[in-house]
Amino acid sequence: MMLSDRAQVWWIVPPGQRMRHAITESPGARPAGDRVPALCAAEVKIPYETWPASREPRSRAITDRCPECEQRVDERLELDADLVVRVWDS
Ligand SMILES: [Zn+2]
Repeated sequence: MMLSDRAQVWWIVPPGQRMRHAITESPGARPAGDRVPALCAAEVKIPYETWPASREPRSRAITDRCPECEQRVDERLELDADLVVRVWDS
């Protein structure tokens, strides 16, 4: 299997939210603000990928994870040990 074919999951903090949701698309592949389905079936917006260099993104401090997304990620990991799980902004 090629590396680019490996399934990925990204933990993102949608703008205005205080909790991470998991999505299967690379956030960098979409314009910020685009709506994508999270694993919990909620619709979330892609966060902005650049911040003022002088400021830490506030979302970086957010470690709370949507429990339903977390369960879905666990299920996927059980089926696919090669699943790549990433945190978008840290
Ligand atoms: Zn979620």
